Amino acid sequence: MHTYDSDDLTAIREGVRALCAEFDASYWRKIDEQKGFPEAFVKAMTDAGWLSAMIPEQFGGSGLGLAEASVILEEVNACGGNSGTVHGQMYNMFTLLRHGSEEQKRHYLPKLASGELRLQSMGVTEPTTGTDTTKIKTTAVRQGDKYLINGQKVWISRVQHSDLMILLARTTPLAEVKKKSEGMSIFLVDLREAIGNGLTVQPIANMVNHETNELFFDNLELPASSLIGEEGKGFRYILDGLNAERTLIAAECIGDGRWFIEKASAYARDRVVFGRPIGQNQGVQFPIAQAHIEIEAADLMRWRACAEYDSGQNAGASANMAKYLAAKASWEAANACLQTHGGFGFACEYDVERKFRETRLYQVAPISTNLILSYVAEHLLELPRSF
Ligand SMILES: Cc1cc2nc3c(=O)[nH]c(=O)nc-3n(C[C@H](O)[C@H](O)[C@H](O)COP(=O)(O)OP(=O)(O)OC[C@H]3O[C@@H](n4cnc5c(N)ncnc54)[C@H](O)[C@@H]3O)c2cc1C
Repeated sequence: MHTYDSDDLTAIREGVRALCAEFDASYWRKIDEQKGFPEAFVKAMTDAGWLSAMIPEQFGGSGLGLAEASVILEEVNACGGNSGTVHGQMYNMFTLLRHGSEEQKRHYLPKLASGELRLQSMGVTEPTTGTDTTKIKTTAVRQGDKYLINGQKVWISRVQHSDLMILLARTTPLAEVKKKSEGMSIFLVDLREAIGNGLTVQPIANMVNHETNELFFDNLELPASSLIGEEGKGFRYILDGLNAERTLIAAECIGDGRWFIEKASAYARDRVVFGRPIGQNQGVQFPIAQAHIEIEAADLMRWRACAEYDSGQNAGASANMAKYLAAKASWEAANACLQTHGGFGFACEYDVERKFRETRLYQVAPISTNLILSYVAEHLLELPRSF
């Protein structure tokens, strides 16, 4: 049992571990080699109800909190899998849950809970504006009972394995709003109808086996009913979901960190060079011990974030700090693990190089480390805003 676990959380860990045991290292290695998508794993996670953990029971989910959801994703990574293939469903559902109309919730949430539909994608980032989200150039113009979408997005993940996507677009030009965060709206795009009818998807080859794409919108027509919440408030809605998302990412990094530490320790105990296990050398032990300390410290901040979020408090500071600490700690653990394995760290069959690539992503996406530092400087330390 981990420091903050209850019997319920332990049962969740055991349940997810049992499912993950059916998708072992060779499964993930093959998917990675083929640059494939782990369809069978995603289906098994959906069928077992793990991905609908946070959907209220009235809509067919389990109505669990962030703490439980975070344990689910943590365990996927701690077992050697890649939670990046499923986490979108957990994050993106928040937006619908919190800001969707009753009709949208009644229509979509039961289908998301049963797995009939997937909401794995969120389109925010654009090639020319990057982190400066309020400058996005994708527009949504109302025409009668439709919106006309034009523009471009980049790095939009799992579009080819999702039925729906949350899209952020500008509905009022920047020049006409009082605050730059106003005038953007979010839409629920039915990808099955949009692709080929105004939406073009261009896959981006990248370092991780992460299905991610450039999107081109050319007069894509969306029914006005696809607007989520009020027009013009989309940026606030997106921000609303971020504390949960950052806490979940922190848990995923903690899962990665635990995998690296276990793998490094096992190898260091077994591998004999100069007539003794390499783990007998403090030069080998200490980086692993250090990684363990840092993962455990990050875990405490993750539980603080979960407790604040689940009790309805503002979890902004803890969620950001947990994500910062965990992404850094998992990367240090990855480095220690690779170094411990020497040359074998580079051999695909040991899985270290794959997990090394996967965990590195989390210092850049979904929010880069610098932007967290800037949040802490501005909001916690009252330093002047830098941008
Ligand atoms: C594999 C992958 C999957 C992704 N999936 C999605 C997705 O599904 N949906 C989506 O919308 N986006 C997605 N993203 C995009 C991701 O959220 C962005 O890459 C990330 O937020 C950084 O934005 P950027 O790449 O435009 O970097 P930029 O904004 O160009 O920044 C580049 C670097 O400069 C730093 N920087 C920029 N401004 C400042 C500043 N003022 N002070 C200090 N440092 C600064 C940043 O921290 C960063 O390190 C994904 C990205 C990747 C790589």
